[in-house]
Formats: sequence, structure tokens, C-alpha cells
Amino acid sequence: MARTFGIDALRRYITLKTHRIHALPVAILMPHSGCNCQCVMCDIWKDNGNTQQLTEADVQTLLVSLKKLGTRWVVMSGGEALMNPNLFLLGDILRAEGMKITILSTGLLLKRYAEGIVSRTDEVIVSLDGSEAVHNAIRRIPNAYQKLRDGVRAVKALDPAFPIRPAASSNAATLPIGPTSLTLLTKSAWIKSVSSPPMFQAKPSTAPNCGTRSGPRRSNSTPANCPS
Ligand code: SF4
Repeated sequence: MARTFGIDALRRYITLKTHRIHALPVAILMPHSGCNCQCVMCDIWKDNGNTQQLTEADVQTLLVSLKKLGTRWVVMSGGEALMNPNLFLLGDILRAEGMKITILSTGLLLKRYAEGIVSRTDEVIVSLDGSEAVHNAIRRIPNAYQKLRDGVRAVKALDPAFPIRPAASSNAATLPIGPTSLTLLTKSAWIKSVSSPPMFQAKPSTAPNCGTRSGPRRSNSTPANCPS
């Protein structure tokens, strides 16, 4: 283990010095380019008529690089990762190589896929924008908050210890919440069931859009700019 850590540290040092990637402990994939929310601060969903998604062949190809770069954790982002019907198969390929899987999700499909999530992934991070009224107003999907809540409950019913974390994004111009209100929010009953501290992602008010992408983001060494 100590030897592995040493090699990892060396790889990261070389990456910093050479500006060429020699280590990628965490990789972010975009399994599906579309989204099932219509957030006010984003226009990814406007391209839902032109979606693309990762295939098993794509992941098998990526795997060569991920193994070479020492990737240990893969985050399935989006758009909405759960919209890819083969998402769990993609995860199986990566997990077979010892990598862990996190799903970033809007939460709308959590209930439907609760069994696969519990048995074939390692963590879920769900987007939560505020109170029920605020969340639904931002997501612009009827009952988005309720579906998220029911999804979390479904996962927890199968495995109370399964890690689910809430993440909030805030654009000062559009989202009337901040870190303090997020802390208050996490005191609500169903959110108490999440097993890890919440994340808070701030966005500059001058750059409210997540952007329209021409296709799936295959990998990224930085945190996702757009919450799912
Ligand atoms: S912000 Fe995230 S959840 Fe909302 S529409 Fe964009 S990609 Fe979907």
C-alpha cells in the first residue's frame, strides 16, 4: 500500500511539473448527454433531441487509459447518468477493475433504479436546490422534490447504510439559497437519512449556464461544472 501511495504521489508530482496527465485518481464520465430536469440556470436539456451516450465499447476503450493513469474512482455525471439504459453495465466494467462508482443524479430516477444503485454502485450524490418550492421552481419539473425524496427513501429502504449525499449549486442571480440555508435544509427529516456531509457548489452569477454540449463528456480530471 505504501509503495502504491508513493507511486501515486510521484505520478501527481510529474503531472504538475510537466502539465501532462500521468495520474487521474478520479475520472468523471458523462454517460448520457441529456437531462430529465429543465433547470433555470442550464441549457443542457435544450439539446435533449440530440442526445448521445456512452456505450460498453466506449468504456472498454477508456479503460485502457484509466488503468494506465491509476484511476480508482469514476463519477458518472451528466446530464442525467441514469438515463443511459446501460449505465450499470458500464459500471460493472469499471468495478471489475477495482474502481468505485459514484452517480451524480437529479434523483428523478432513483426509485426506479434503486436496486441497481445499491448493488452495483458505491455512492450517489443528488442535487438539492432548497425547499420543496424552491427546488421545484428551479428544476421546472412537476414534483421533482418529491421524486427525489421518494428515490432517496427507496435506496435507503434497501440499504440504510448506502451513502447518499446532497449537493447544491447556487447562482446568486437565480438560486435563493446559500451554504447556511443548505445546512438548515439538511435538518429536514428525509435528508437526515443521507450518510455524508452535503456539498455546496457555488457558481458565479455572471456565468449561469452549464452549457450545451455537442456530445458526451468522455472524461474530465476536474469536478463537474454542472450539477446533475
Ligand atoms: S443543471 Fe444539471 S440537472 Fe439541471 S438541467 Fe442542467 S444538467 Fe440537468
